[in-house]
Amino acid sequence: MAGPGTAQERLDKIVRNIAANMVADVCSIYLLRSGSRLELFATEGLNPEAVHKAFLKVGEGLVGTIAETALPLSLPDAQSHPKFAYLPETGEEIYHSLMGVPIIRAGRVVGVVVVQNRTMREYDEDEIDALQTIAMVLAELVGQGDLVDPAEYTAVDSRRSEPYIYDGVGLAEGLAMGVAVLHEPRVAVDRLIAEDPQAELNRLATAISSLRRRIDAMLADEDMVPAGEHRDILETYRMFAHDRGWRDKIEEAIKSGLTAEAAVERVQMETRARMGSVTDPYLRERLSDLEDLANRLMRHLVGKSETAAGEVLPEEAILIARTMGPAELLDYDRSRLKAVVMEEGSPTSHVAIVARGLGIPLVGGCERVLERIEPGDVVVADGDTGQVIFRPSPEVSAAFAENLRIRVERRAEYAQYRNMPAVSRDGIAVKLYMNAGLHVDLPHLDETGADGIGLFRTELQFMVSATMPRLAAQIELYAQVLNAAGERPVIFRTLDVGGDKVLPYMVGQREENPALGWRAIRLVLDRPALLRYQLRALLIAGAGKTLSVMFPMVADVAEFRQARQILEVERRRLERLGRPLPAAIRVGTMLEVPALAYQLPALLPLVDFISIGSNDLLQFFFAADRGNPKVSGRYDLLAPSALKLLRDICATCTAADVPVSLCGEMAGRPLEAMALFGLGFRSISMNAVSIGPVKAMLRGLNVGEFRAYLERLIDGPDRTLRGKIESFARDHGVAI
Ligand code: PEP
Ligand code: MG
Repeated sequence: MAGPGTAQERLDKIVRNIAANMVADVCSIYLLRSGSRLELFATEGLNPEAVHKAFLKVGEGLVGTIAETALPLSLPDAQSHPKFAYLPETGEEIYHSLMGVPIIRAGRVVGVVVVQNRTMREYDEDEIDALQTIAMVLAELVGQGDLVDPAEYTAVDSRRSEPYIYDGVGLAEGLAMGVAVLHEPRVAVDRLIAEDPQAELNRLATAISSLRRRIDAMLADEDMVPAGEHRDILETYRMFAHDRGWRDKIEEAIKSGLTAEAAVERVQMETRARMGSVTDPYLRERLSDLEDLANRLMRHLVGKSETAAGEVLPEEAILIARTMGPAELLDYDRSRLKAVVMEEGSPTSHVAIVARGLGIPLVGGCERVLERIEPGDVVVADGDTGQVIFRPSPEVSAAFAENLRIRVERRAEYAQYRNMPAVSRDGIAVKLYMNAGLHVDLPHLDETGADGIGLFRTELQFMVSATMPRLAAQIELYAQVLNAAGERPVIFRTLDVGGDKVLPYMVGQREENPALGWRAIRLVLDRPALLRYQLRALLIAGAGKTLSVMFPMVADVAEFRQARQILEVERRRLERLGRPLPAAIRVGTMLEVPALAYQLPALLPLVDFISIGSNDLLQFFFAADRGNPKVSGRYDLLAPSALKLLRDICATCTAADVPVSLCGEMAGRPLEAMALFGLGFRSISMNAVSIGPVKAMLRGLNVGEFRAYLERLIDGPDRTLRGKIESFARDHGVAI
C-alpha cells in the first residue's frame, strides 16, 4: 500500500486506492495535530483545496467522535446524526453515508480514516473490517514520522507523555532511576500483511491451543497454584482463552489480510483504546486481563520468551510488572536491574521479601501502571517512600540524581564503619548481626562487617523454588552459609511458612486470619516430617561446627519442648549412623507471641538464647496487621507500652544470663535501634544495608545517659516517645 514517493504522495495514493477498492465516492484521512485537532491530510472526493486547511476538534463532528471514542462508526444517513458537523470548505454536503475507523498506534488514536457515499448505503461488517485493517497499515505509515512530527503525538496523550506520579507502597527500600522495561514485554509486530490467510489461521489455532494448554495445566496443578489472587487471574485468562467472540474477532482480522500477530495486535489495540473510556474498576480489571492474555498469545505466535529476563536489559533497568513471583525476580541480571514497580504486592508478599534480600528497591500498589508507561520511559522509584515518577521533568530528574548521589556517598561513608567496632560513645560494646535468607545475601557479611547472621530465614529457599527443596539442596545451602560465616555465628530459624508465606507447591486452605493461623511451628509440629528433614539437613551441614537453631512463633513452652525433642531425635539418629555431628548445638526460640513473654521463668532454663521477632510480636501486641497499610502505621513501635514490653523481656533474659537479641525490621532503623540500646539490648539483627547507619548512630550515642532519659519518660502519658527520642538525638549529635 505504501510505495515510493514522499509520505504525502503515498497518502494521496492510498486514499485514491481505498476509494476505488471500496466503491466509495470519498475517502479522507485526518491526522491528529498537537494533541487535540484533527487535520484533513488527504482526500479523494472532497475539495482538494481543503487539505491541510480543514480542521475538527477531537469530539467535534463524526470524525472527532471516532477519534474521541476510538470506535468505528458506520451510518447510512450521517447528516441526521446529532454529532454531524458540516465543514463548508470540503463540499461534503452531498454525501449521505459515512463509515470511519480510528487510526490507532501504540494504544493511542493518531487519526481517522473515513469513506463516504452519496447514496444512503449500509456498510457491512466485512467493509468495516477491511477499513480497520487499512487503518492499521496507515498507523505504521504515520508512525514513521514523515507526516506529523512524532513529538506531536507524545504531546497528544498526556497520560503517556507527561510526568506521572504514583504514591505507591514501598516494599523494599532504596532509590533508583532508570528506564522502564516491561516484565512481560509487548511484542512488536513487524510483519503486517499475510499472503496466505489459511496459514495464518492455522498458526493462530496452534498458538491458542498451546496457550490454553499452558493455562489449563497451571490451573489443573492444584499444588502449584494455591487459592487467591493469582488463581483468580488465571481463571479469568482461561475464560478469555476459550472465548469464542475474542477468537472470532482475531480470525476476522486475519481474513482481512493480516498476519496472525497483526490480527491479535489489532484486536488488542481496540481493547486498549476502549479501556481509555471505561471507568468501572471491575471491567477495567477484566480488560487488562484480556490485554495480558493477548500479549501472551502474541509471544506464543512469535516464539518469544514469557518475560524480559531472557533479554539483555539496559544498564539501568526498572522493571514494570503487574505482579511477579520471587523466582521470576531471581531470573534477572541483578547488575542491571535497579528497581521493580508493580501494580500489586504487599510488604509480606514473597517477591518483596526476596527483593529486600537482593537489595532491589520495590514499589507496589501502583494501579494501572502498565497503561501509563512506555518501555524506555525514564522512571524514578523510591522504595523508602513508595513514590514512583514516570517521565520526570529535567528538574525532578536532577533532584533525584543528586539524592541518589548523596545516598551512594552516604553508603560509601558507612562502608568506612565496616572495620570500626560497634561501641557506643560511653564504651558499651554491642553485637550487630544481619538478617539473611538466600545465597545472594552471603557477600554482605564481609561487606558490612556484620558480627554474624542473627536470623537466617530458611523459608526463603522454599519459597523461591518451584518444588520442595530436597535434603541435599538444603544441606548445600546451610553448609555454604556456615562456610561464608566462618567463625561468626549463624542462627538458623526453622521453616516459618503458612499463613501468608505460601509455598507454591503446598496446598493451603484459605484461613480467616492467616497471621493467627496454622503457620510456622504450629504447622511443622503437625507435619513433623518437614521439620525432621530440615533439622537433619542442619545437623549434617553443621558437622564439626557450632549449630544454632531457633523456632518461630512459639506460643508456649510445650511447643518449644516438642520442637527441641524432634531435634534431639534427629541428632541421635545421626549419632547412631555414625555421622559427624556439630561440635556444639545451641537451641533457642523466637519470641514473637506476647503469651511467651509471660512464660519466661519456665522457658529461660530450657533455651540457649532468645530472639525477639518484633514484626510479629508488636502486630499481636497492638492487634494491628503488619501487612495492612490501613492499620500497620496506626500504633507506634516507640509507644511507651511497646517499649516497656521489650525492656522487660530484655531485663528478664539478661538477669537469667540468657542472651537476648531482636531481629524484626525495627532493629535496622537507627532511631528505633537507638531506643533498643536505651532499653538494654546489646545485640540486634537487621537487614545488611542498615548495619552501617546503625553503627554510625551507636558510635555517637551515650547509651547510659540516654537510658536514664528514656526511663524518665517511659511511664509518662505520651502516646509515643518518637519525638522526644528524636530531640535527644538532635541535641546530642546522634546520627539517626
Ligand atoms: C519478626 O516477626 O519480627 C520476624 C523477624 O520474623 P518474620 O518477619 O520473618 O515474620
Ligand atoms: Mg515473625
